Amino acid sequence: MKTVIVGGVAGGMSAATRLRRLDEDAEIVVFERSGHVSFANCGLPYYVGGVITERSALLLQTPASLKARFGLDVRVNSEVTGIDPEAKTVAVHDLATGERYTEGYDHLVLAPGAAPFVPPIPGVERALVLRNIADTDRMADAVDAALARPEPSAVIMGGGFIGLELAENLTERGLKVTIVELADQLLAPLDVEMAALVEKHLVKHGVAVRTGVSVAEVCAEAVTLSDGSSLPAGLVVAAIGVRPETGLAAAAGLELGERGGILVDERQRTSDPSIFAVGDAVVKRDALTGGQALVPLAGPANRHGRLVADVIAGRPAASRPVLGTAVVGAFGLVAAATGWTEKRAVAAGRTVRVIHTHPANHAGYYPGAEGMSLKLVVDADTDAILGAQGVGGAGVDKRIDVIATAMRGGLTASDLADLELSYAPQFGSAKDPVNMLGFIAENLRDGLTETVQWHEVEAEVAKGVQLIDVRTPAEYARGTVDGALNVPVDDLRVRLDEVADDVIVHCQVGLRGYFAARTLAQHGRRVRNLDGGYRTWARI
Ligand code: FAD
Repeated sequence: MKTVIVGGVAGGMSAATRLRRLDEDAEIVVFERSGHVSFANCGLPYYVGGVITERSALLLQTPASLKARFGLDVRVNSEVTGIDPEAKTVAVHDLATGERYTEGYDHLVLAPGAAPFVPPIPGVERALVLRNIADTDRMADAVDAALARPEPSAVIMGGGFIGLELAENLTERGLKVTIVELADQLLAPLDVEMAALVEKHLVKHGVAVRTGVSVAEVCAEAVTLSDGSSLPAGLVVAAIGVRPETGLAAAAGLELGERGGILVDERQRTSDPSIFAVGDAVVKRDALTGGQALVPLAGPANRHGRLVADVIAGRPAASRPVLGTAVVGAFGLVAAATGWTEKRAVAAGRTVRVIHTHPANHAGYYPGAEGMSLKLVVDADTDAILGAQGVGGAGVDKRIDVIATAMRGGLTASDLADLELSYAPQFGSAKDPVNMLGFIAENLRDGLTETVQWHEVEAEVAKGVQLIDVRTPAEYARGTVDGALNVPVDDLRVRLDEVADDVIVHCQVGLRGYFAARTLAQHGRRVRNLDGGYRTWARI
């Protein structure tokens, strides 16, 4: 049996090598349009930034090494230009020699990935994208050229994962970087108050951030924005997002999904039973609804590539829906997310319960603890975990991965309270931040406590609800939620006469507020605790 694979990086190469491990006799041909296969696309920004110093470190395999170890016939600089599903052949254009030929297949695997979206604006030809090794070489040269100018500057269109990674790396190289993002926040997989923490960190490290505007024109040494202002730009990058490469599939009459990706079933089979598709080019199933989703991430591409090999080799296998678990780092800050944001859950009509916490990654008494902000989005009707986000230092990725695993296993938010996680003071806490989220979820589910969100406070106060800051006078003096009366938690029992019937309490992160809420509730007050405390409200 002969399997032809289009695209020789994440999904395609996972399929090819796994198929060889399962079937020593299979004929496997991989076509790759660029000059390299199996390169480390996730490492490209770090080569541009000089963190990865050896270009060769990005090139994980070559056609020769893949031939030697896996007996693969890998043809680089070879673009597949058409599919004839009836004849079961693909048309190939050898970009090095100009030769055109056809290649037959029994099974065809499409793994062509997704192309960076470049907006149709005047002068955009000057904007660079980052997808493959050739792009990386171009960008590295452009950085050198930009650095040679009197005031080295760069504009990055797009404040997503790649935009942030490039902002860090170009800054480290010495460019004055501005991110221009059309949405009103960076990082769409985060909610606005969590993304604000990332923006603050970038600004602290010298990156300018312009949200709510777009680049209207790319000029010789500058860009003009949609609000009429302009920015110096020795280098311009388009990192606005990616579009699935579906040209081949569409021309072959394969069914596409609502959002443009190639439609596949649980076995990654397209509407043609001999043709499979994986990776950024395909529609995935959303883990929360089963609906169609585009999730251009390396994990699903690799796993689904592996799975296709199983299916072709006749093994039972079915792909799982995806959560979109992702992580990014910039200037030492980590931002990670899994599942849905609050805004997405609300837009989908879910009744949500939201929890913000600000724990340390390990016991505070052990030197070197780093803080983080966590957010859990819970379905208030079912206690199901809809999503989680984390921003901070060490340990953010671990907490989001634990929650992603819990979601995959079908645990509820309250179940997080009971997870048995490893602990010693330098690694965590006996009540891990994930357990703490579970405790709070359980208390909310059981009605032991009621919370109010940062964006709801103003309206509640306007309705006449009393606001009490239960922190110390010194903390209160450094800044409080507008209009709050200061009654420290330890004084509450003796100052009960100052507390109204309907009250919102707040502390720094929510814990003392919870203690205060329990006290006041037992003294007959209707009391709500400001979720995440002053830190979430003030976004600090
Ligand atoms: P790709 O890995 O992009 O491979 C597709 C290949 O198909 C391409 O090399 C292309 O040349 C080839 N091709 C397309 N059409 C044809 C054709 N007609 N004929 C022959 N060949 C063709 N994801 C993460 O999860 N974490 C990260 O940190 C991360 N960082 C990233 C950083 C950068 C700069 C980039 C660009 C991506 C990053 N990603 C990251 C995304 C991740 O790389 C992709 O999700 C993953 O590579 C998708 O795998 P794929 O096989 O679908 O496509």
